[in-house]
Amino acid sequence: ATDVVLSGRTRVFTVSNQKGGVGKTTTAVNIAAAFADLGARVLVIDLDPQGNASTALGVPHSAETPSVYDVLIDEFPLADIIQTSPESPNLLCAPSTIHLAGAEIELVSQVAREHRLRTALDEYLANVQDHIDFVIVDCPPSLGLLTINAFTAATELLIPIQCEYYALEGLSQLLGTVRMIQKHLNPRLSLSTILLTMYDGRTRLAQQVADEVREHFPQEVLQTLIPRSVRVSEAPSFGQTVIAYDGQSAGAIAYREAAVEIIRRDSALNEGRA
Ligand code: ADP
Ligand code: MG
Repeated sequence: ATDVVLSGRTRVFTVSNQKGGVGKTTTAVNIAAAFADLGARVLVIDLDPQGNASTALGVPHSAETPSVYDVLIDEFPLADIIQTSPESPNLLCAPSTIHLAGAEIELVSQVAREHRLRTALDEYLANVQDHIDFVIVDCPPSLGLLTINAFTAATELLIPIQCEYYALEGLSQLLGTVRMIQKHLNPRLSLSTILLTMYDGRTRLAQQVADEVREHFPQEVLQTLIPRSVRVSEAPSFGQTVIAYDGQSAGAIAYREAAVEIIRRDSALNEGRA
């Protein structure tokens, strides 16, 4: 067993990158499952109308399911929509439904439209029986109001970067939005973690991209790389994370290592501050 010590705080991650298909959802659910596997209590908030995170966690999210939509638009308490993943009693999910697609527009005319998720999450965390160690918000591939709600609610930003051409393209726009959020909406948000995903060590390109990202973000990039792996891409069609689907696969091992690294780096930082 790996020896990791949880901080006792609730760390709220938003997994964001306005590019689609870079591994946001895969990272959100597998890091969450890996944290739960380490004994942490974890809540995944699915903010993507596609609901891929809800699917991967084995949580029903048909149109009738109470969802994040009801929280954002009708001020349902978060506690009323949260389900437990069949994978682990420590793995919770606030599902998305297709209705969330309309929320982006409906939010525009609402009061405190950027703070809706933050308010709901604060209320939930203040009243929940069992302490939540990690909240992980899976974002849609855009910088609209849903993503802004995630940035406003989070303490940390986790950016997955795919080791392919144009990996850094669009990143300056994302970082610009983050600075705007820090200035106007959420000063406690920090870009703490970058995770290189879909890494294929056999190609020179993947190595070059990894080197380039590390050069730009030496503090933020995790040592752990997530390899391109068929098991990772198969798992969601079984309604599972790769941690449950094939715990000994290279992808599962890498996501567990990444989770341990995220916990260790934080304790190292806090010891440095003490
Ligand atoms: P996003 O949420 O950013 O749109 P996804 O997490 O849905 O991206 O990933 C996009 C596609 O890539 C999915 O089909 C997913 O199964 C696949 N994928 C993600 N990570 C890996 C990996 N490490 N190895 C193989 N396939 C992956
Ligand atoms: Mg996604």
